[in-house]
Amino acid sequence: MSGDPSNVPVLVAGAGPVGMTTALALHARGVETAILEAEPADRDRSGSRAIYVHGSTLRTLERLHSGLGTNLVDEGLVWPTRRTLYRGKEVFNRTYDSPGGSGDIPHFTSVPQVVTEQYMLEALADIGVDIHWETEVSSVASSPDGVHVETADGREWETDYLVGADGGGSTVRKEIGSNFEGDQSENAFIIADIEDEGIDDDHPDLERLFHYDAPEADGRNVLLVPFTGGWRLDIQCIEGDDPEELSSTERMREFVRDIMGEEYADSLQWVSTYHFLQVMADSFVDEDRRVLLAGEAAHLLAPFGARGMNSGIADADEAASAIAVALNARTEAVARDEVELFAARREKAAEYNLDAAGQALEYLQGKDPVTILRKEAAAELADYFEVAGEWLDDAPYGPHGAPPIVSTGNY
Ligand SMILES: Cc1cc2nc3c(=O)[nH]c(=O)nc-3n(C[C@H](O)[C@H](O)[C@H](O)COP(=O)(O)OP(=O)(O)OC[C@H]3O[C@@H](n4cnc5c(N)ncnc54)[C@H](O)[C@@H]3O)c2cc1C
Repeated sequence: MSGDPSNVPVLVAGAGPVGMTTALALHARGVETAILEAEPADRDRSGSRAIYVHGSTLRTLERLHSGLGTNLVDEGLVWPTRRTLYRGKEVFNRTYDSPGGSGDIPHFTSVPQVVTEQYMLEALADIGVDIHWETEVSSVASSPDGVHVETADGREWETDYLVGADGGGSTVRKEIGSNFEGDQSENAFIIADIEDEGIDDDHPDLERLFHYDAPEADGRNVLLVPFTGGWRLDIQCIEGDDPEELSSTERMREFVRDIMGEEYADSLQWVSTYHFLQVMADSFVDEDRRVLLAGEAAHLLAPFGARGMNSGIADADEAASAIAVALNARTEAVARDEVELFAARREKAAEYNLDAAGQALEYLQGKDPVTILRKEAAAELADYFEVAGEWLDDAPYGPHGAPPIVSTGNY
């Protein structure tokens, strides 16, 4: 490699949660790797993004680096109660007496992404994987024999495989000629974190609250989720909203006071407007089967069901698995096949996740009169039939279940 003394067979672009997981997953399979990251080591990643980490993700992280999954479980919390209101009236309330899951890993944990990333960074330092900070990938040229990468600092790198985990604006995706396809219309949310140092697992009354058409938010849907150290407040914009205006500190303080109570009005930690798309790359690999896309470089999802980081971590694990086999393959055809199988599996998973998040989006924001009527009928019936309230509680997150497993089609 001409760019750096370390000579690694796989480079990863991006030190977000997906790139870091890719590096951990490669190392766990005995493959040396290094990360090229555009930003400096002391970058500010504050402003919590993913908080809901699925049990399957925690198990993957634990498998890749012993202690990583359980550390996140220790840092995070599991809320025991799911509660839903409909225009001010409670329609569902259920408390669980156990966090579910199996062994040390619960059904989920609620932990800010910045904490997850910190543990990933520590795990990488532990095993000695280099992160080259301020090393922005600027061009990528693949051939049947490997990949030539140039970084903005003028360095050149040769590697056998490159994983593009460089986020939604991915240079790697553009360089391999892959394009985002799907619904390009932007939807907006206002998201705030509200500090509450008293929050931890010892609060048996912790709840995740979804409020349809909340009067306190002038008829907008509101989601309130606890995590260690605070609350995540999501307010879904409605037609005619100006998200920037609604997210001004003054207006947000009013929302927080009205929704959570006066005592929280001064605890706003971070506010942001979040615009999301529902798109995926038309190919997760390049023509030479040497460059693989993972995480938001490959797909952008609506936030319902918390599939963004969770599915990106699954991409990372499968990309590493494919590359580990491909590197040891005795024929070029087998190596290509492994990479193609990665693409088939993860493209199918992304389609499934897009569809699931899309169903939730349509349910929440669509104008289909049947859906609107079903919601109203369910809210009426919730007093008599728990199943009606449970449907209202469940639907904002899309269908349950994981993407199908895709095989090569061999019998
Ligand atoms: C408000 C909010 C709430 C969310 N909640 C959840 C949730 O509860 N659960 C969930 O699963 N997901 C959630 N998500 C989604 C989750 O945050 C993302 O899916 C996740 O961060 C994607 O990780 P990534 O590593 O693919 O990309 P990123 O986190 O964007 O990381 C990409 C990295 O690549 C670097 N980079 C960019 N360009 C280059 C380049 N050319 N060369 C080198 N490096 C480069 C960037 O600096 C960055 O470090 C949420 C997102 C938001 C905004």
